[in-house]
Amino acid sequence: MDSKGDIFVLSAPSGAGKSTLIRRLFDDLDRLSFSVSFTTRSPREGEIEGRDYFFIDDAIFDDMLAKNGFVEWIQVYQHRYGTGRAWIQDQIDGGLDVLLDLETVGAKRIKEMFPDAILVFLLPPSPQSLADRLRGRGKDTEEQISIRLKCARHEMEFWNNYDYIILNNDLESAYQDFKSIFISARISKKRMAQAVQNVLVTF
Ligand code: ADP
Ligand code: 5GP
Repeated sequence: MDSKGDIFVLSAPSGAGKSTLIRRLFDDLDRLSFSVSFTTRSPREGEIEGRDYFFIDDAIFDDMLAKNGFVEWIQVYQHRYGTGRAWIQDQIDGGLDVLLDLETVGAKRIKEMFPDAILVFLLPPSPQSLADRLRGRGKDTEEQISIRLKCARHEMEFWNNYDYIILNNDLESAYQDFKSIFISARISKKRMAQAVQNVLVTF
């Protein structure tokens, strides 16, 4: 039997470059699935149902909660976000790697439930560069940018819960760091055990 996949979690303050790295990774690697979360917030411009999130109302969220349908969930201001339970296990059992995009509390929860999960934190090099990137992206007002900078400071305090820290100064180098985490996991002893046995029996 082929080896199981791994669970990867990426967290970062907003504007640090998370979506940029994720998009590129999916263009580059096969055997990788993205965990699409459920949320009660409304879709933003350009977001697609089933690709970015499953957009559901509070009643459906409550119903899923009652049925133990989330492996973890969190409330951020008035909205809730949750990771569906059944799907992740199916993916890794089928040998696929799964990437979750979660904030810091959800990431910690995933590590508690799946101790082998690989947690990655993406760090902006400075508040100035983070503000510049948010301005460049053109989706936030100055007031929102200053709130995001305060949140960033808070989120970065959780860095020590993560297995890998990527400093996103130069994008190319940050991407290579990010990709290498996935590549290394795929040649870990755990993942290669069956392949080794297949070779050994031929000797
Ligand atoms: P996030 O998903 O973490 O909120 P994005 O991936 O949308 O962040 O990136 C925010 C902005 O910063 C985008 O306009 C992106 O092109 C830009 N960006 C990302 N990484 C870098 C980098 N290393 N240097 C300069 N700009 C970057
Ligand atoms: P946004 O509303 O900007 O898409 O996401 C807000 C935050 O929620 C981001 O930090 C994102 O990583 C996080 N997030 C998205 N889905 C989930 C989820 O299912 N669980 C948790 N814990 N966080 C999530």
